[in-house]
Amino acid sequence: MKRKKLIFWLLLIILIILILIFLWAGITGRVVKSVSDSTKLLWPVEYKAIHANSIFYPDVDGDGKGHNCKPVNYRSHEGTDIAILSSYQKTGVPVFAALEGQVLWVFNGKYDKCPNIRIADCNAPTKSDEPGLSSGYRVCTKLGPYCENGTGYCYWCFNGANIIVIRHYNNSKIFATRYDHLKNGSILVKPGDFVKKGQKIAEVGSAGYSLQPHLHFEVWGTKFYEPVDPWTGKCGPNYNNSLWESQLK
Ligand SMILES: [Zn+2]
Repeated sequence: MKRKKLIFWLLLIILIILILIFLWAGITGRVVKSVSDSTKLLWPVEYKAIHANSIFYPDVDGDGKGHNCKPVNYRSHEGTDIAILSSYQKTGVPVFAALEGQVLWVFNGKYDKCPNIRIADCNAPTKSDEPGLSSGYRVCTKLGPYCENGTGYCYWCFNGANIIVIRHYNNSKIFATRYDHLKNGSILVKPGDFVKKGQKIAEVGSAGYSLQPHLHFEVWGTKFYEPVDPWTGKCGPNYNNSLWESQLK
């Protein structure tokens, strides 16, 4: 009888140790930031605050499916949405530059706890697009050397309200990355600044056209506002070349 008890306790202890090892490996495996490939994207949000099952994949090709063939939350969405628990927004969840580059545009100063119908910053714009616009959740850049070839369209507009766009050089697949819905006042960079990969640039918020605190992370491939899917998977459009340093799924 005594012996049976002893074996039981020994097995239990071994089981607990194994579980702890698996947990430890799982956690550290996710938070380690490899800097092995300077051409690939680093995960842009601190892991600890992310909801389970709260990464919403892009649908750049508009087929209603993500790279993993599962239905997306909303069709033709251009970025990866990474949601956090609301309680974390107050504490501050860092957003990191996914690659080294130069800050191209910054928008700041909008209310950051949308949705809230009483707050104009959360609602649809009341004016139409023009360079330098700031109306409702919509913001536009000033006119600049950003023209789309041949169209004379030389400014860009977004619904993320508080935004950073970083231009990446010497990278044939990634022209720029865009970070939306940022917490008001958390932006640490200004246009022209050079940023390192992994540098904290802001914090996650719920500014603009947003239903909960999350980062909208978007990748432009070879030119202004040309969203591409950084995730690779058999339901494409990116079939065989993940732009992530380490793709999660
Ligand atoms: Zn989004």
